[in-house]
Amino acid sequence: MTQKSIFQRIIDREIPAQIVYEDDRCLAFRDVNPQAPTHILLIPKKPITSIATLEDADAALVGHLWLVIRDLAQQLGVVDGGYRVVVNCGRDAGQTVDHLHFHLLAGRTLDWPPG
Ligand code: 5GP
Repeated sequence: MTQKSIFQRIIDREIPAQIVYEDDRCLAFRDVNPQAPTHILLIPKKPITSIATLEDADAALVGHLWLVIRDLAQQLGVVDGGYRVVVNCGRDAGQTVDHLHFHLLAGRTLDWPPG
C-alpha cells in the first residue's frame, strides 16, 4: 500500500498543523520551517502529486486555489508589502512532499533569482 504523504496526514488530522483556512476543496496551514515571516502552504484535498500530474478536469480546482491565495494574502495583511507564490515541481525544483502545494511567502524582501 502506498504510504500517505505528510500533507494527507494533516488533511486527515493525524498530525497537527496551524491551519489558517479550510474549505471543502483545500487546506492552508503554516509551514513548519518558515522561510519568511509569513509562510503558508496551500494544498488541495484531492491527492494530486504535483503540477506534472494535474488533469484538465482540475482546471476549476486550480483556479479556486489561486483565488484562495488572493484572499489569504488579504486576510494575512501582506498585499501592500507584496508576496510570492512558489510551486516546486520535481527533484530539481526541490519538491520534498509529493502532494501539490503552493508556498505563500511574505514579510521580507525576497531575492530574485531564487536559489
Ligand atoms: P517543498 O520543498 O516540497 O516545495 O515544500 C515542502 C514544505 O513542507 C517545506 O517548506 C517544509 O518545511 C514543509 N513541511 C514538511 N513537513 C511538514 C509538516 O509536517 N508540517 C508543516 N506544517 N509543514 C511541513
